[in-house]
Order: sequence, then C-alpha cells, then structure tokens
Amino acid sequence: MIYPSQHRLLRSLLSPNLVCASIHDIPLEQLLRSGYTSIWLDVDNTLVGAHQREATLRTLNWIQQAKSLGYSVFIISNNRSQVRIDRICRQLGVDGLYRALKPFPHSLKDFAKVRKINLRRSIVVGDQLFTDVVVGNWVRAFSILVDPLDKKLSLLKTVQRELELFFLERLVGTSRKIRVRREE
Ligand SMILES: [Mg+2]
Repeated sequence: MIYPSQHRLLRSLLSPNLVCASIHDIPLEQLLRSGYTSIWLDVDNTLVGAHQREATLRTLNWIQQAKSLGYSVFIISNNRSQVRIDRICRQLGVDGLYRALKPFPHSLKDFAKVRKINLRRSIVVGDQLFTDVVVGNWVRAFSILVDPLDKKLSLLKTVQRELELFFLERLVGTSRKIRVRREE
C-alpha cells in the first residue's frame, strides 16, 4: 500500500526534469538562460561506455562547449576505481568525485559546499533513474536522464533498466512525452 504523500514523494524523486537521447541533445544554451551554471555528469554509460577507458573526441568537444558557454563542469561517479575516474577527469580537464554513493546526496553536497556551488542552479546528468535522477532531484537540481551508451547491458542492468522504464511510465507518464529530439 502506497499512501498519496509517499506516491508524491516517489514521483518527485523519480521524475527527471528532462529525458534526452544523449548528452549531445541537452539544450545547454537554453538551460544557461534559465539560470543553471554547473553541470554534474555521471561517467559510466553517460560520458564513456562501461568498457571504454577514455571519452571520445565528440564528448571532449561537448565538454569544451559547455565550459566555453560558462558552465562549471564536474564528474560525479559511483565507480569505485579512483584510477578510472581520475584518468577521465584529467582527460576532460574537470574535477570530480568517484565512489559518490548516489543516490545519497552527502558527497555531492560536501563537494559543492567546499567549492561554493549552488546545487539548485546545477544540472545533474546520468543514465540511471535510481541513482543519477534521484540524487539530482534530492538536491533540487535540474535532473536529466540520458539513454545508456552501451545498449547491451548485463542481466542485472537489464532488469534495473526495465524497472526504471516501468517507474518512468507509471509515475511520470510515458517518458516519450518529455523526451527531447533524438540524436540524428
Ligand atoms: Mg551510469
């Protein structure tokens, strides 16, 4: 039994503000005009495929574009490998967090506090509803769900993805309604 107040809470945590096919579809200029100044990016399956060591040139260009528009760009990853996340941060020229324990907001809040970043003026981007979108909504940032880069997911990830899509349909209405233009 879910009470209406719990349903509302669940819906507010699990509803992305925007669903995009990939980072390249994020309307950076429009969000900047709306007052957002920082972007927090998930790594695995959002910026880099789970089996890739480095970001593609296209991703590098996108990060560069976000920076030159004036955004502060950060990495927030649950990946436990400091080596992997450090390497990607260095390649992208950004600062970031590994082992961030999303969806819990504590490490994100601590990191933002030290750097005096207003999380309500931040955009949180990731491929997972239960971690990336929830942490973004928890800190009242603008949450964006992107499709995972790797279309072939492990069995566990496939089950999780199905559950995420189920919640998207049930709580938010169909995800297609808020999906923006697909990548050409
Ligand atoms: Mg991910």
